[in-house]
Amino acid sequence: MSSKGIIKKKTKTNSSDATKKLAEKIKQQALLNQKQDKKEEIQEEKEEIKDDIETTDDSLKFTSFHELNLVPDLLESIDKMKFTKPTPIQSEAIPYGLQGKDLIGLAVTGSGKTAAFAIPILQSLWYQQTPYFALVLAPTRELAYQIKDTFDALGSNMGLKSSCIVGGMDMMDQARDLMRKPHVIVATPGRIMDHLENTKGFNLKNLKYLVMDEADRLLDMDFGPILDKILKILPKQRNTYLFSATMTNKIEKLQRASLNNPIKISVSSKYQTADNLIQSMMLVNDGYKNTILIYLLNEFIGKSIIIFTRTIANCQRTCLLARILGFNSVPLHGQLSQTQRLGSLNKFKSGKSNILIATDVAARGLDIPSVDIVINYDIPTDSKSYIHRVGRTARAGKSGKSISLITQYDLELYLRIEAVLGKKLPKEDNPSKEIIDALHIHVDKATAEAIRQTKELHDKRKESNYRRRDRDDRDREER
Ligand code: AMP
Repeated sequence: MSSKGIIKKKTKTNSSDATKKLAEKIKQQALLNQKQDKKEEIQEEKEEIKDDIETTDDSLKFTSFHELNLVPDLLESIDKMKFTKPTPIQSEAIPYGLQGKDLIGLAVTGSGKTAAFAIPILQSLWYQQTPYFALVLAPTRELAYQIKDTFDALGSNMGLKSSCIVGGMDMMDQARDLMRKPHVIVATPGRIMDHLENTKGFNLKNLKYLVMDEADRLLDMDFGPILDKILKILPKQRNTYLFSATMTNKIEKLQRASLNNPIKISVSSKYQTADNLIQSMMLVNDGYKNTILIYLLNEFIGKSIIIFTRTIANCQRTCLLARILGFNSVPLHGQLSQTQRLGSLNKFKSGKSNILIATDVAARGLDIPSVDIVINYDIPTDSKSYIHRVGRTARAGKSGKSISLITQYDLELYLRIEAVLGKKLPKEDNPSKEIIDALHIHVDKATAEAIRQTKELHDKRKESNYRRRDRDDRDREER
């Protein structure tokens, strides 16, 4: 080889080394950036969840409803409902509500937040019984029904008329209901907007109170455009209450809700995830997820359990699997009809079924008493949903447990949730290999059968959906 050739080769090697070094440097920098982005995102999420808490005046807090100057009709109902003393959110929020202030309440379902906003509204309604006095917006139909029930119970002595206006029900029936001129309307955004646009004689010009329950969800992208439309129509002179388990801090979102010097009250997260909720995780191999789930159901036999899945298909299949193996489970997801959803919920609430298998539709706002255990069959893709899900247990001071199944594919999502929670969750012990192997054979067979039945259901549903395609697609809460 000529000397020229050697020099050429050397230069080439040098330049390829340099390129390699540069590529490595770029990779390192990209990794660093990614890490930084992630850190910032996590911090943002943490801040959103914590929210800024404005301290309220402790001297306004009360310990018995009889201390408040409530009208006798209302006080009687409160006594009848056996609310002997206020919950923390009630003790803080009601005095301000009675003073006519706007409220931002950070509180989970189970904290008594519905009565916290219903009591000031009903007190004010007693003095001025006008139609369409209050509108309560909720993101899901089930939550809307629950809120209406609380209003009905609290307003039973004062001739309260209320309506629940949600998707999936007959528009004409609802129009007739609205013509009865209810004082309080509890609604999902899509359907109430439909009525505001299309039901003759119905308007909210004299509305005095607007409540947004699960407000962070209502203020997000899914409902945003409809909510903007509703807010434009509503009179500016009114009281506005935002209630939520997690509240985003983004000012522009809050401004959209037109609050007037709101008082911020927070009792939820501390109350919720402190001593009485034991959260843990279980590392499982994806292929053994069903087996571990069935093992846990056996372990917790007789307890009331909610199992969360990420998709409707998983929800349906897991529910069938549990049933095939003799567990009394009911599904709750957005592809069920309204009647089916209420049916499942009622069975679970009444104790006829002790296992509810749900997508995130059920994660928010539902008042399901005494849930002993929450199992995250699939962990959620965002940490807020995690908090909502585990918030289904350990309510009103009772103890509760949550277990998240983490497979090899979930690690990144899981670490993110841990980062937002700011703590590591203890690891549950896995059962012995013998136990799992023995169980796995049965579960595998049952899973195959559940998959077959799910497919059958899916085909049937597809056919019937095809027939009623145009119906009712303005309500978006079911996703
Ligand atoms: P909520 O957070 O509004 O969904 O309420 C959760 C549950 O707590 C409901 O079943 C209420 O009836 C109940 N509750 C609300 N306030 C009180 C109270 N002050 N005392 C006892 N139970 C209450």
